[in-house]
Amino acid sequence: SAAAQTPATEQTSDVENVVIIGSGPAGYTAAIYAARANLKPVVFEGFRNGRGGQLMTTTEVENFPGFPEGITGPDLMERMRKQAERWGSELHTEDVEEVDLSVRPFRVRSTERELRAHSVIIATGASAKRLGLPSEGTFWSKGISACAICDGASPLFKGREVAVVGGGDSATEEAVYITKYAKHVHLLVRGDRLRASKAMADRCTSNPRITVHYNTRVEDAYGGEVLHGLRLVDMTTGEKRDLPVAGLFYGIGHTPNSKLVAGQVELDEAGYVKVSHGASTSLPGVFAAGDLHDTEWRQAITAAGSGCMAALAAERYLTANG
Ligand code: FAD
Repeated sequence: SAAAQTPATEQTSDVENVVIIGSGPAGYTAAIYAARANLKPVVFEGFRNGRGGQLMTTTEVENFPGFPEGITGPDLMERMRKQAERWGSELHTEDVEEVDLSVRPFRVRSTERELRAHSVIIATGASAKRLGLPSEGTFWSKGISACAICDGASPLFKGREVAVVGGGDSATEEAVYITKYAKHVHLLVRGDRLRASKAMADRCTSNPRITVHYNTRVEDAYGGEVLHGLRLVDMTTGEKRDLPVAGLFYGIGHTPNSKLVAGQVELDEAGYVKVSHGASTSLPGVFAAGDLHDTEWRQAITAAGSGCMAALAAERYLTANG
C-alpha cells in the first residue's frame, strides 16, 4: 500500500483493510488467509524479539503436520513467511508501539510508521515466565531452560540430575517428561502442596525418579561454563542449601503479550485476551489469535488454526461492515 512509502510524520488517507500484529504461526497464517481473500494485509512482524515467534528459538519441530521427517523451527517459520508474502501480504519487521482501538478506523503506530485500519488481528503470542535469578542470564541455555519438552533431550541432561520449578500442571508434566532423559528429577515447589490436577500430582509423587521438595525457593544458580547447581532456601526455616543439578527447567507458566491492547479489549485475570467464536475479542473488528488467547494448548498447529479463524472472521466483518 501507499502507506509503506509514507514517512512516519506524514498522514495518509489510506485505510488498510486489516493490520496483523505478530509473526508466529498465528500471524503468518492469518496473513496467508487474508492475502488470499484479497485484503492486502499489512503485517507487523516485530523486531526486538525477532520475527517468526517462539519457534525461532527451537531446533526440530516434529509434530507439525506435513513434515514427516520434522523441520527446524526457523525453516518452518521462513516457509510460512514466504507463503504470506507470495499472496501479497505487506510485511514490516517492526514493533508496534501503540494501538488506539477507541477510534474508527483503528490506529496502529509502529517504530517506523502510523497506519489506520478497518480491522486488526492481534497475534503477539506469549512468553514463558522466568524466575529472574541473579545468574539466570549466565546459565540460560547452558542448563537453564523454559521448555523441558524442547530441551530435555539435550546431551547436557542425559543421565544427570535436574530440577524443575513449579507446582502446577506444566511443572509436573515437565518433571514426568524429563525422567525419560535425566537420572533423577527434583521438583521444587514454593508452597506446601502441588497445585496440579490430582492425576498429575500422583504421577509425580509416586515416581521413584522424582523427589518433590516443598516450601522451597530457588535463590540463585551456580556453575562454570555450564550450570552445576542451585542455591535453595527452605521457606519455613530460612535454611539455605546447595542442590547439585545439571539442569533447571521453568514450569511456572506463561505471560501473554497483551500489553498493547490491555484496557482496550477484555482480558482474563492472567492477561489472556478473551475471545468468543474462535477469534472475536470484546471489540467488533478486533480479533485475537494464537498463544495470546490460548491458556491451554499453546502449539504451533493450534496457533495456526486460530490465525485462520481470525482472518476469516475479519473478512466476514469487513464484508458485513463494508
Ligand atoms: P508466537 O510464536 O509467540 O509469536 C508472536 C510474535 O509476535 C513474535 O514474532 C513477536 O515478535 C511478535 N510480537 C509481539 N509483540 C509485538 C509487537 N508489539 N509488535 C509486533 N510484533 C510483536 N509448538 C509445537 O507445536 N511444536 C513444537 O515442537 C514446539 N516447540 C517449541 C519450542 C520452544 C522453545 C517454545 C518456546 C515453544 C514451542 N512450541 C512448539 C510452542 C509454539 O512455538 C507456540 O505455541 C507458537 O509459536 C505460538 O504462536 P503464536 O503465533 O501465537 O505466537
